[in-house]
Amino acid sequence: EVQDIADGGADWIHLDVMDAHFVPNLTFGPPVIKAIRGATDRPFDTHLMIENPDRWVESYREAGSDAITIHAEATRHLHRSVQVVRDTGARVGVSLNPHTPLSVLEYVLDELDLVLLMTVNPGFGGQSFIHSVLPKIAQLKSMIDARGLSIDIQVDGGVKPTTIGAAALAGANVFVAGSAVFGTDNYAQAISDLRAGARAATGMPTAV
Ligand code: ZN
Repeated sequence: EVQDIADGGADWIHLDVMDAHFVPNLTFGPPVIKAIRGATDRPFDTHLMIENPDRWVESYREAGSDAITIHAEATRHLHRSVQVVRDTGARVGVSLNPHTPLSVLEYVLDELDLVLLMTVNPGFGGQSFIHSVLPKIAQLKSMIDARGLSIDIQVDGGVKPTTIGAAALAGANVFVAGSAVFGTDNYAQAISDLRAGARAATGMPTAV
């Protein structure tokens, strides 16, 4: 499957790690990531929906993650957790659930490579895109631009050809798609449709 989505045109491989504590579901850990690492050269973008991420980031890095995103809600000491990820050499991401205000990023934004705004409540695939996150994307884009930073804005949850354009227009440039790709029998077409949806809205190159 990893080879198929890479061949189909995916730019990154996004890995949703769930621990059945921070989120209700349980997925996989470092051994599975290590096992699929050889399937492609595309960057592995690991999204840790787990509590106490500081304890585990090193093992996710060693398993082959190029980027590691932690949740602001899953750590008491976000600044420290960001440094823990940075120290592994991975690109550093912080994710916010739909209800979490952007203000939690104010004093760590300069340390980040990526911000992931959840467009569903994390824990399950196949949910509907929460449209009230759109102004949050635009506000984050303004925060980043005002500081002259270069930080990816990623959206995750309910991304499909009918929602990707609005997210792109609001300022997102990296789009996570699960059901919209794996729920079809032609991954290359699904990825192409997503990219076209984002381009139609913005005219900008985007990562899917
Ligand atoms: Zn994710």
